[in-house]
Amino acid sequence: MPRRTVRTVLALVMVAAALLVGSAASATAGPAAAADGCYTWTRDLAQGASGDDVTQLQVRISGYPASGEVITVDGQFGPATKAAVTRFQQAYGLTANGTAGAATYQKIYELQDDDCSPVHFDFSELNNCNSDWSGGAVSAAQAKSNALRTMWKLEAMRHSLGDQPLRVTSGFRSKACNDQVGGAPSSRHLYGDAADLGAGSHSLCTMAKEARNRGFHGILGPGYPGHDDHTHVDHRSSKYWDAPDCGVS
Ligand SMILES: [Zn+2]
Repeated sequence: MPRRTVRTVLALVMVAAALLVGSAASATAGPAAAADGCYTWTRDLAQGASGDDVTQLQVRISGYPASGEVITVDGQFGPATKAAVTRFQQAYGLTANGTAGAATYQKIYELQDDDCSPVHFDFSELNNCNSDWSGGAVSAAQAKSNALRTMWKLEAMRHSLGDQPLRVTSGFRSKACNDQVGGAPSSRHLYGDAADLGAGSHSLCTMAKEARNRGFHGILGPGYPGHDDHTHVDHRSSKYWDAPDCGVS
């Protein structure tokens, strides 16, 4: 073979090899693999449905309630869940019909890690106290599951504020950790559902205001005692918003 032809054949072989490697890599790193790592839905879900798959869906769309509301995670697909699914679909440019089907699940699979946390947040970020989640006001399992819901709300907030990073400065605290940092004796940090957010991509007030739309019943921020350097969010049972410098009350 002439030298030029040899070079051409070699180049073609290299291109083919690169293509093979490329497709193999995307097959293993794609969203489907991540979905299998956490949870996979096996049926479409619409208003009237109930079951664990509804519970799993509710956790992931809990950052899309009506303003001031909190999505109840109870496995019952009611009107509030339908409205939240619709808002989630709108937020990601999907057909917004309030029924969770293949396209909605695909988006959730893209957004979740194998441990079920959303891609932009990790359990370790929500817990700089003790890694086994014990010693708080609820069981370790409950604290961790509360933190998971909070992370999905933060993921919704991150997206609605333009996909810029949010900086979590404190999450779950055991009683010992809470005492150490001088937290309130009844702090929601003891329950695992609280997150303190530091200023960064967004001001404290921007986050305090947006938290109103993301399923946080508790919002404390600038102007509230001890909260001029962070915005605190949680999902306590009844609404308490107080960030006077931001007009949030
Ligand atoms: Zn806090």
